[in-house]
Amino acid sequence: MKIGVDIDNTITYTTEIIMQYAAIYGQENGLNIVPDLNHYYIEDVLGWDEEHAHKFLLSYLGDIYRNTKPKEQAVEVLRELKQEHELVLITSRNLLFPRVKETTMGWLTNHGIDYDHLVLNTTDNMHFFDKLDICLQYDLDIMIEDHYELAKQISTELPVILFDYPYNRHLASDNIIRVNNWNEIKAWINNFPKVKPNPND
Ligand SMILES: [Mg+2]
Repeated sequence: MKIGVDIDNTITYTTEIIMQYAAIYGQENGLNIVPDLNHYYIEDVLGWDEEHAHKFLLSYLGDIYRNTKPKEQAVEVLRELKQEHELVLITSRNLLFPRVKETTMGWLTNHGIDYDHLVLNTTDNMHFFDKLDICLQYDLDIMIEDHYELAKQISTELPVILFDYPYNRHLASDNIIRVNNWNEIKAWINNFPKVKPNPND
C-alpha cells in the first residue's frame, strides 16, 4: 500500500513546542501567551497580528523543527509500516524557510524514521499547500493528517486517517477515520482492504 503521512501534529507534537517558544517570544514582546487550542494557526491560537506571527516563526522555526518530539509509538509504527508499505511524507513545511529541508531530514534520520519520499511545500503560502495533488500524483491509498481543510479536501478522493484535535473536531465523513494515537493507526492500516474499492461500484 502507498501511505501518505503528514509530519507536524501527526508524527510530532508541534503545537506543544510552538507554544513553549511562543511563551518566550510573547513575554518579550508583551503579547498574549495563553493559547486557544480550538484554533490551528498561531495568529488565531494566540490572537497575535500577522507581523508578530511571521517574525516569531522566522526566529524560532528552526528550533521548533529541530526540537519537536515524536508522538508515542510514532517511530515504532512507522518503522513497522515501512517494512510492508511505501511511505510518502507530505508536509506544509515551506522550502522558503532557511534550511527547512535539511532540518526536517536530519530530524527524521535522528529519530530513525525511514521513508520513500519527502515532499515539502514549494508554494508561496508559508504554512499550507494543496496536498491532494501530491496524493494523486503518488497514487496514494490513504493519507494520515491532522489539518481540517486538507483532510476535508483529500477525503473526497481517498480515505484519511485524522489525528483528533479540537480544531478538526467538526469534521465528519465516511472517508475520515478519526484516531487518537499511532497504535490505532497501525490497527486501521492492518485491516485496510487489500484491494482499492472501485469508486464506480
Ligand atoms: Mg499537520
